[in-house]
Amino acid sequence: MKDNVEKKHVSAKAFAYIRLSSQSQAWGDGERRQVEAAKEFAARHGLTIDETLSDIGVSAYRSKNSKGGALGTFLDLARDNVIEKGSMLIVESIDRLTRDEPSSALQLLLDIIKAEIRIGITSINMVMDSLTYVALFPIISEMARANSESEHKSKRSLANWVTKRLLAAQGTPVTSQCPLWMEVKNGEFCLIPERVEIVKRIYGMYSDGIGRGAIARALMNEGIPAWNKRRPVWHPSYIFKVLHNRAVVGDYEPETKTKEVHVAQKRIPDYYPPIISPELFNRIQGMSHVRRTGHSGRKGKKFANLFQGLAQCTVCGGTMRFLNRTHDKKREKPWAMYLVCSSGLEKLGCQNYSWYNYRVLENFILAGTLKEIDIIEAAGLHREAELENMDLVEKLKAELDKADANIANLVSLLDDKALEDMNELKRALLEEHRKRKSLRERLAAARGVAAEARQAAENTDLFRQAGVAPEGIDMSDDAVYARRVRISMQMRSMIDRVDCAPKHCVSIRMKSGTVYELEDGQWTRVEQRLAPVINKVITSRSFAGLAVTRLPCEYEKASDTEEEQLVIV
Ligand SMILES: [Zn+2]
Repeated sequence: MKDNVEKKHVSAKAFAYIRLSSQSQAWGDGERRQVEAAKEFAARHGLTIDETLSDIGVSAYRSKNSKGGALGTFLDLARDNVIEKGSMLIVESIDRLTRDEPSSALQLLLDIIKAEIRIGITSINMVMDSLTYVALFPIISEMARANSESEHKSKRSLANWVTKRLLAAQGTPVTSQCPLWMEVKNGEFCLIPERVEIVKRIYGMYSDGIGRGAIARALMNEGIPAWNKRRPVWHPSYIFKVLHNRAVVGDYEPETKTKEVHVAQKRIPDYYPPIISPELFNRIQGMSHVRRTGHSGRKGKKFANLFQGLAQCTVCGGTMRFLNRTHDKKREKPWAMYLVCSSGLEKLGCQNYSWYNYRVLENFILAGTLKEIDIIEAAGLHREAELENMDLVEKLKAELDKADANIANLVSLLDDKALEDMNELKRALLEEHRKRKSLRERLAAARGVAAEARQAAENTDLFRQAGVAPEGIDMSDDAVYARRVRISMQMRSMIDRVDCAPKHCVSIRMKSGTVYELEDGQWTRVEQRLAPVINKVITSRSFAGLAVTRLPCEYEKASDTEEEQLVIV
């Protein structure tokens, strides 16, 4: 700043002003974004940033930043003419400078302009100086009007909101806060392709039944850098935010700070470039509801208990707790997994001390004994296997159609004798016939592979070897986790509740009214139906299957280990 002067704008300096409140820090990246935007803005005006001033954690509310902070120092220097006239102070948006009440905000802006400092606002790509600052008046007067209407705290946000709304109406990005998968460039939102990919993956995985924790782990395992610089880890709570952020469908929802303001705020559709379809977004919101109400199993790595939220104790009505005692050296054999009444277990009054062998219950579902649930379908294996070859089959079919059409055309030309060179025509026809033959063969092969894949999926043994059998599988495998979640969701849609009564009697009550009863190692299907002739409800009982702790395919694998006892008291 020493060798200054002569012509105003030649020696003009550019200062980037960065302010971060703790709020924006939570989403991280705010600092980098503001600096980048300022650099770019400066470059566009033929300037380079000479100095970056930052107030981090300083609130612009009540002008703390313009009094004590870096902004205050800057103002003093500008007033004392230490900073060259015509220099530019570059900020992301006006609310970075001040969130104070309108009159003070106006005063601050006027002070800056009076010191002949220009203000560059990157988010709306605009330079304010002594000539153009008047354009700001309508916005500020609108701020003032909004301010007089409600109490102080909400006033600020509302004022802010009104400003934003006015600018939004002009189709300009009005806020510094844009989702982390895009950035503001030249006053426009630009998607960051690799981040958009990640958002899409997060939605895809969640839609496949993979939990937030597992998604976060998968991203970490793949070494995908987290967007949050301060805490560079993928956290389930951030995955949650992404899954519920309406910005993915293009909506802009201003930050909510107080309850009163929340009511006043409305979302602006078609504000951001959308990256997720509204259908998928809405479906995800529905799924999250199911999960939030506590049916998705524990937050841990495994989805161990398919019966969570379904099983209850008939004595006290309490929930059944899942106990994994497969490796409990302190406990006498047999080691197994159990459902136990929480109250009974902790001696809190319930007299139901039965330990229900969990594998018996789960195998009843997984073995497909329960007619109402198509287990292969529920696990989503059909889809997985078929999708792979479907694309190829479709493509080959289209090519074959084309070859057929070509042949038909050529034949009709032959009939018309429209072509002079018959040899040329013959060659073309032969060529098309060859192509068609090859396409037919390839199509048959692709269909064969698709059918095989489907068959493999339907084959129960292979299906279990793929990892659905609950014991000895690596539950960290996301695919298995996803399958178990799907099965569990299917169960929840069909099963009303699972009653655990004393003496190890278990009843699975379907929503249809049918009940499956477990007694003495045997499942019985109990149905009630109306006999029309005698006009009475008749209860029919039929054998449904044996209770097993191990599925047939598992015997070979584990023949040397000890047999588990079926039921244990
Ligand atoms: Zn109980």
